[in-house]
Amino acid sequence: MKFSPLYFTITFLLLLTSSCSETPKETATMLVYGGTIYTVDSTSTTVQAVAIKNNKILYAGNLSGAEQYKTEETKVLDLKGKTMTPGFIEGHGHFMGLGYNELNLDLMNTSSYQDIIDAVAERVKTAKPGEWIVGRGWHQSKWDSMPSEVVHGFQTHHLLSEVSPDNPVFLKHASGHAGFANSKAMEIAGLTNLALDGIKKFEVEGGEVLVDALGRPIGIFNERAQTLITQHIPERTPESDKKAFELAIKACHKNGITSFHDAGIPKETIDLYDEMKSNGKMDVRIYAMLTGWDKDLLIDWYKKGIMVDDDHLFTIRSIKLNCDGALGSRGAWLLEPYTDRPGHFGHETLPMEFVKETAVSGLKNGFQVCSHAIGDRANREILDRYEFAFESLPNATKDHRFRIEHAQHLHPEDIPRFAELNVIPAMQAVHMSSDRPWAIDRLGEKRIKEGAYMWQSLLQSGVPIVNGTDVPVEPINPIASFYASVSRKTLKGTPEGGYEPDQKMTRAQALKSYTLDAAYGAFEEDIKGSITVGKLADFTIFDNDIMTIPEDEILTTKVVMTIFNGEVVYNSEK
Ligand SMILES: [Zn+2]
Repeated sequence: MKFSPLYFTITFLLLLTSSCSETPKETATMLVYGGTIYTVDSTSTTVQAVAIKNNKILYAGNLSGAEQYKTEETKVLDLKGKTMTPGFIEGHGHFMGLGYNELNLDLMNTSSYQDIIDAVAERVKTAKPGEWIVGRGWHQSKWDSMPSEVVHGFQTHHLLSEVSPDNPVFLKHASGHAGFANSKAMEIAGLTNLALDGIKKFEVEGGEVLVDALGRPIGIFNERAQTLITQHIPERTPESDKKAFELAIKACHKNGITSFHDAGIPKETIDLYDEMKSNGKMDVRIYAMLTGWDKDLLIDWYKKGIMVDDDHLFTIRSIKLNCDGALGSRGAWLLEPYTDRPGHFGHETLPMEFVKETAVSGLKNGFQVCSHAIGDRANREILDRYEFAFESLPNATKDHRFRIEHAQHLHPEDIPRFAELNVIPAMQAVHMSSDRPWAIDRLGEKRIKEGAYMWQSLLQSGVPIVNGTDVPVEPINPIASFYASVSRKTLKGTPEGGYEPDQKMTRAQALKSYTLDAAYGAFEEDIKGSITVGKLADFTIFDNDIMTIPEDEILTTKVVMTIFNGEVVYNSEK
């Protein structure tokens, strides 16, 4: 068949007229179909197909509806039975920590002190003389057995110092709240003469150097005492920063993460992100919190105001405060003493007066405040300061969306206060899997049952939960945290039925905590978090249907593809 020019003209005119009466059909850049697609929106739970135009969702519904937007230019993606959800949002992590974790010695999978020694000994072989060996991720409570010499529940540095006599070593605890140094590192820090000076024990403001019976440091530095060592570790370089940034982006894509709430960054990191964004490398949406340690930084931003860009790649509108330590290192601030360390309550890591000031300034200047609190005392003190700020500025926005990061252990009386005050708990479910087996030693049975990891009680009270992993404290894998959310089991699948099973999330709640509710925690529920027309085209594709498979198959589920800003950025088959 041959078309005359006249035919084309008429067809063109017809198209023109019809387009005047009907809405003009747009062309999709990508059409996805052929699997189960969970929308996480209020109207329908699944759709057959999604049409995307550039970086936005053009259509979500049945296949024939989506095909109306299909032309020769449309890329077609057949899910072949796989499952697609809105792009997963890491609701609390440390982006550069993730990147550097990929660069540094990873001790996350060590299961004994000997494993750590072996890993360091291996690294010593290739290290230059005097070069620092830095690592992260060890946790004595995950060890199969404890070494013979233990002080205050921790290993001592002697074996570590033996395998690395000339290279200073500093190994961060998985929680980030303690660090472990060898004698070379302590020598550089000028700490070796402590015993000779007759100092039995000394404290750094907001931290502690653990010592043996003779007053000699055992190598463990708690909380801010870590800076005694870390200040001697050579600075990061611009090159290593860029490398770490790129590794972090890669790790996100591999794990289906398209957005990342970065829990506390300093000025240098803001500059780095700006640079990476202008170089077109910001392939994850970063919602960054300003680090509250730097008061000048906060004052600067109060003057400048919040930063919300049109492409939603890099947002700054919140402040992170670190208010106590972690349960593992007994730094979490408790109302009653630790069950396994009588007389010890943990401690606040910044003055509560500063939380009050920041809450007030945050409200006045339109910044969200996100405070790290693990122990029930820290949580209560922060809720009190937030409440003070809300009451003293009754005309400031009600939509402040102040958050408490972790909110792991709450006094039962404080649980309803989150909903009452409109404070969002950002809780990393996988912490329960890792910590619950030994957290009961720290808190005892009553406190664990009444107040630890209270997901369902909080949800029932009417607040959303923002989920996540606190990477690099835990691996960034959202499937592990999803599994933890719905099973309340360790990642080894114990105990049968899960810990405190009445606090489990449903699968729908867990999915929402990683998508729409996480978006809400960043004021972004109108632009992402569900598969809704007009929202950003960020998606995660899994090989299993995480909403219906048997619980014990969730952990073997894999992310097979990640779509960010309308483009496939990760494909496990390639
Ligand atoms: Zn954190």
